[in-house]
Amino acid sequence: MTTTSATEAAEAAPVAPTTPARTALRATGSALDTAHAQLAAAVDILGYDDGLHTMLRMPRREMHVAVPLRRDDGTTEVLHGFRVQHNVSLGPGKGGLRYHPNVEIDEVRALAMWMTWKCGVVNLPYGGAKGGVAIDPRGYSAGELERVTRRYTSEIMPMIGPDNDIMAPDMGTDAQTMAWVMDTYSVAKGYTIPAVVTGKPLAVGGSLGRGTATSAGLVHVTAAALADAGVPLEGTTVAIQGFGKVGGHAAEIFAERGAKVVAVSDQYGGIRNDGGLDVPRLMAHVRATGSVVGFAEADPITNLELLALDVDVLAPAAIEGVLDEHTAGTVRAHWVVEGANGPTTEAGDTLLAKNGVVVVPDVLANAGGVVVSYFEWVQANQTYWWTEQEIAEKLEHRMHQAYRGVAELARREGLSLRDAAITIGVQRVAEAHQIRGLYP
Ligand code: NAD
Repeated sequence: MTTTSATEAAEAAPVAPTTPARTALRATGSALDTAHAQLAAAVDILGYDDGLHTMLRMPRREMHVAVPLRRDDGTTEVLHGFRVQHNVSLGPGKGGLRYHPNVEIDEVRALAMWMTWKCGVVNLPYGGAKGGVAIDPRGYSAGELERVTRRYTSEIMPMIGPDNDIMAPDMGTDAQTMAWVMDTYSVAKGYTIPAVVTGKPLAVGGSLGRGTATSAGLVHVTAAALADAGVPLEGTTVAIQGFGKVGGHAAEIFAERGAKVVAVSDQYGGIRNDGGLDVPRLMAHVRATGSVVGFAEADPITNLELLALDVDVLAPAAIEGVLDEHTAGTVRAHWVVEGANGPTTEAGDTLLAKNGVVVVPDVLANAGGVVVSYFEWVQANQTYWWTEQEIAEKLEHRMHQAYRGVAELARREGLSLRDAAITIGVQRVAEAHQIRGLYP
């Protein structure tokens, strides 16, 4: 299949240096610990002082809100919601809205910080933000989810807007959720404001290509990373954890581009077929049953077994912290391409580097979503919409440009792709801080 073997390529991979700040802040495994350790490593590389480091670490604004919900059975429940703007030096805060039972403020802070660096890596005029409600959406009716979304939106209204903080779907939310946010905000302002959210349905100003953008971007950077090692995407074996908006479409696009998707999983379990899964049939099975589990043309595996499969590419595309000190050592893939935000802890990163696994980091690998969100926002602001082909070409161009920037810095300075990517993101933000100056 290859001109250079995957093993040779992985052996040639740069290894992350252990810097003093990285050692001091060695993660204990939480998303925020991981995010802080990654920032500390970039700060060391850039030689910034403690004051600037603290500025870059601290979120600019946060809101904690109670979200009372009248349930369909007449009872009342009060949920917890958050919105964090980590940084707004380069433009409005930008980041998803997550509905998941484990949502808590430190996780939202970490996700907001990653959005800041991600927007920097792909050079968008945005800061980083994130929001979430601690709720398991599977246990609520559509009407209840609409009421939660509208109340949460109205509680955080002072923070959001097309010029100051723009939401998008994340885990547990979708285009319909964004339509409810947009409608609630627009009704409050008295006129329709599509640019307050991205990832909304086409019928209310969404962008062609947004639904698959994160996954398409992930496949573009995977292909670029493989090409750097002389390995074609065609024929490459892929395992994907998470079969939602990111993982599901990634499986589809990998298969369309000739890669062999041999295993996928979701929160209920995983499936494996070494001959390659029939992804369109699997999609139909998931639409019908709500899970990949039980797909007839595959054998069952656990999520842990999936992470340890002997494949070329492993794409964790579900939740944070799955590659940690216990699991990262079992990884046999040559490339880990992070579809999820923060799937690898600091200890996991160290183990993967030690074993020569090339990690294409989240802030680069899953940035396709925010790139097309940016296109959606630009289109909404100018009320002029581009064709699907225009979007696809612009996305591919941006992703390749971002990958090249990261890969070149990594090569030049002997850094891991993660340290190079975070360093680029941090530097763009710090430069804006320094040029703008400190008020007052
Ligand atoms: P989603 O809700 O559409 O899908 C999540 C998937 O992960 C589902 O298949 C779910 O069953 C699975 N999952 C949840 N918990 C799991 C567990 N413990 N073990 C295994 N699988 C589990 O969410 P999504 O939008 O696809 O987001 C997935 C990840 O990608 C998140 O980390 C998110 O922040 C990140 N991300 C999403 C986007 C986007 O555009 N949607 C963009 C960038 C990053």
